[in-house]
Amino acid sequence: MNAVIATPGLDSLHAGFLARPLQLFIGGQWLPAQSGQTFAVLDPSTGRDIAQAAAGDAVDVDLAVRAARKAFHTGPWPSMSHAERGKLMLKLADAVERHADELALLESLDGGNPVRMTRHIDIAMAIDSLRYNAGWTTKLTGSTSLSSPQSRSFTYSLREPVGVVGAITPWNAPFLMAVNKISPALAAGCTVVLKPAELAPLSALRFGQLLEEIGLPPGVVNIVTGFGAAAGQALVDHPDVNKISFTGSTRVGKSILMGAAANMKRVTLELGGKSPVIIFPDADIEAATAATTQTIFFKTGQFCAAGTRLFAHRKVFERVVQGFADRARKLKVGPGVAADTEMGPIISQKQVDRVMSYIGAGRSQGAEIVTGGSRIERDGYFVEPTLLANVRPDMSVFQDEIFGPVLCAMSFSDTDELDRLAALANDTVYGLAANIWTRDLSMAHGLARRIQAGTITVNGGSREQPMPFGGYKQSGLGREGGREGVEAYTEIKTVSIGL
Ligand code: NAD
Repeated sequence: MNAVIATPGLDSLHAGFLARPLQLFIGGQWLPAQSGQTFAVLDPSTGRDIAQAAAGDAVDVDLAVRAARKAFHTGPWPSMSHAERGKLMLKLADAVERHADELALLESLDGGNPVRMTRHIDIAMAIDSLRYNAGWTTKLTGSTSLSSPQSRSFTYSLREPVGVVGAITPWNAPFLMAVNKISPALAAGCTVVLKPAELAPLSALRFGQLLEEIGLPPGVVNIVTGFGAAAGQALVDHPDVNKISFTGSTRVGKSILMGAAANMKRVTLELGGKSPVIIFPDADIEAATAATTQTIFFKTGQFCAAGTRLFAHRKVFERVVQGFADRARKLKVGPGVAADTEMGPIISQKQVDRVMSYIGAGRSQGAEIVTGGSRIERDGYFVEPTLLANVRPDMSVFQDEIFGPVLCAMSFSDTDELDRLAALANDTVYGLAANIWTRDLSMAHGLARRIQAGTITVNGGSREQPMPFGGYKQSGLGREGGREGVEAYTEIKTVSIGL
């Protein structure tokens, strides 16, 4: 396979944004880490350095939290009308849209996801999120209780911004995850310190430049790049942070929950998943197979809601497995920045080792490798699209989140035993999403009620902006998106006046 396809956009990124030192954005200024430390940012398609970013730690986080606190209480932000705040967010959405091609390319270079996806999914959804949440600036309200003429008090509730928010994001959709936290926080009137993932921090820093360009008041959004154990932990431990909004692994999510207890920070956690795909014999098998292939290889399987456990009815199992394997073999694997790439690299060597060790464990426990199963020998971190069949529910490949391009399949026999099927689907600690394929809508609704997951799609339905997203069980706490998502950045205060 060939090397990175250089495009004019890529050349100007290297000569422009990536050629300058990448610093922290604190109180409206670009600063080096106080320690002077930096870390290398790699292109996962080649394994080579593309930039040096500032390695922020507790000292920088403290400066950023102070800037966010100041901006929360003084200056233009708290005195701005809701409508003005909304206008600023719309201006930001327009700026992101103007730079969408460049942001998508940067995102693909840094995270390895195919540029056609970063452009039309990640960046497009981020623009939608900014516009959607801009609308909430003028619509968030408290309430008053029903009162009778005899009532001796007047009682109402006030909805207030929660305060300074620490936003901690992962590497698999860095731009979208950052915007999905910053946009509802701004709509609610909060200020933010963002700690992007150390494996893909670039698009967040470019976003910082756009915040500056549109005139967001200094300190309203601060960006501290650095490692989880230093910068991330410092944000969780900081006594003046009111809320942590985290997207990442369940392991780190649990440690954040414990750390947040010290000053009872509000916490929203969007964590891992091991989502089932259930295909009944009456389904549109072509559509089901195509969609299942697409979702598992979307972001090279590094996607929290990926359908990674396939349950296909025994009557259609062979057809689904063959259809899936044929599609997987034809996938164009390559660097994220190449226009024709359908599946990019894994994010790092460490993650490749993890994926390969799961494939090895599945093989040694008796799973059959229908297609893939090996590392692709070339520069960068590539693993073949892989399908494991004859998998049992007790195998680690069927229980753990692998976060790679690996689908595990098993068949089922009964179609009328919804409780038994739901029990199979629910047999994991996760509960993020589930995908059902059938023409029998009673079956679909029956199963949707029984499956413990935050998002259930039937016949390829997709979640839309106003709907909340989040996990049951160990897939998370709270919801992002919709009314629930923006209200999660507020506190409610009840006021009662004696008359
Ligand atoms: P991760 O948990 O390793 O890291 C996520 C972020 O947390 C990074 O910014 C990291 O630096 C930071 N971090 C690490 N240790 C920390 C600590 N002790 N204190 C504070 N911050 C710390 O996750 P990842 O590997 O970057 O991302 C992959 C995971 O994210 C997967 O499990 C995936 O399912 C999950 N994810 C979930 C969703 C969702 O919406 N539910 C979306 C995307 C990704």
